[in-house]
Amino acid sequence: MFSQQDSKPDWVFRNARIIDGTGAPSYLGEVAVRGDVITAVGPVGTILEQGTNEIDLAGLALAPGFIDAHTHDDRIVLDAPDMLPKISQGVTTVVVGNCGISLVPVQFSSEPPPPMNLLGNAASYQFPTFADYAAAIASVKPAINVAALIGHSALRLAVMPDITVKATDAEIARMGDMLTEAMENGAVGWSTGLFYPTNAAADADEVAALGRYVSEHAGVYATHMRNEFENVLESIDESVATAKNAGTPLIISHHKCAGVENWGRTEQTLPKIAALAEEHPINFDVYPYSAGSTNLRADLMTDTYPIMISWSEPHPEMTGRYIVDIADEWGVDIHTATSRLQPAGAIYFQMDEDDVRRVLSSDLSMIGSDGLPHDVHPHPRLWGTFPRVLGHYSRDVGLFNLETAVHKMTGLTAKVFGLTRRGEIAPGKFADLVAFHPDTVGDLATYESPLQQSVGIDWVMVNGALSFSANGAPTTRAGRLVHRDN
Ligand code: ZN
Repeated sequence: MFSQQDSKPDWVFRNARIIDGTGAPSYLGEVAVRGDVITAVGPVGTILEQGTNEIDLAGLALAPGFIDAHTHDDRIVLDAPDMLPKISQGVTTVVVGNCGISLVPVQFSSEPPPPMNLLGNAASYQFPTFADYAAAIASVKPAINVAALIGHSALRLAVMPDITVKATDAEIARMGDMLTEAMENGAVGWSTGLFYPTNAAADADEVAALGRYVSEHAGVYATHMRNEFENVLESIDESVATAKNAGTPLIISHHKCAGVENWGRTEQTLPKIAALAEEHPINFDVYPYSAGSTNLRADLMTDTYPIMISWSEPHPEMTGRYIVDIADEWGVDIHTATSRLQPAGAIYFQMDEDDVRRVLSSDLSMIGSDGLPHDVHPHPRLWGTFPRVLGHYSRDVGLFNLETAVHKMTGLTAKVFGLTRRGEIAPGKFADLVAFHPDTVGDLATYESPLQQSVGIDWVMVNGALSFSANGAPTTRAGRLVHRDN
């Protein structure tokens, strides 16, 4: 079916250092693409026929397009479909709907509460069914593919008049119907954000009951756990128990041990998760930075580590500044400054670098940016995550080799989310490809200057279409909603 003899390939890439996404050693070889599919792969000399486009990569690395395992790109894929912050990093698929936050199925008559306001205002929420959202993706056709989770907070806000309590059986049944509709129309799973006030009143029984609807359609369960601070071990137990109870694979979101008093505790969490993963499928995503970012929250305010403002509605002039400096300038304490800045977002320097490195190095970790695309002064992870893993952590620090780095952003991620035809360079897989310079690839975005495009990514192909080019070649948008087998 995928024989190279069928007809002439549209593209043949020669002299590529092929990093196929499985983690196997790279080799010098060639790749043929016809339509949106990879038709042949092998060492130099494998592909005898000429392609319509013959490209000599002269030793450049060629990898499967990167899959961003953790995003909040639900709306930006529709509003800014060029997706430059992501495609310029080599990302060809984003997983949206994380942390219990999704554009589907809730609608608002007044402003969305935090954390739902991370995706936009009330007008942004216009998708009562997943079919509506899928149709919008198909009509806009963003530059990259979208794999979607449905968020528990979005479900609760859509169904429950009072989200400060546990859902009733009738409410769970209604949320379950919404999950079923989403799964039948192409969602890949669901997420919770039990850390957030819109989600926190849900107990493990409510989560497991809803998870069963997703399990019926072979979907995954991703969770921003109830606690990443002192009670992180208890939260891991709760997450695993609910996932097992529901029958879904578990993805622990942006695994970390936050707060100065918890620094170093990945030495406890990682062996615990690895042991539990022997009995149930468990993975986690991680971003390559020691600061996190979300809404500015009174309960997260502390003077034990720096906190930077990423946006503020009443005080936009304070974006990019530290809360202690703002408080100083205003002659108030940090708690008063925090309430004056609301609603707002913040970057919390709450992690230990050694913990970040241990999580990145785990066999179970996938790379996910957790970037917040609507922030005025976003965390640099939005523009820098993938080149930072390849350049800083793999090449410069030497945490793991390039093949492993690529596997954590391609083959492993595709497997975890059930994207059976993505994440590897192999015949029959979709032609999502990235060509990059291993010696120079790197991130330029910083906390001070976060809107910086990364370097070393030469070009990116999505579903067989050239979709990003560092040298200005014409590009087209060819992204799709992706799920199992497509
Ligand atoms: Zn989160």
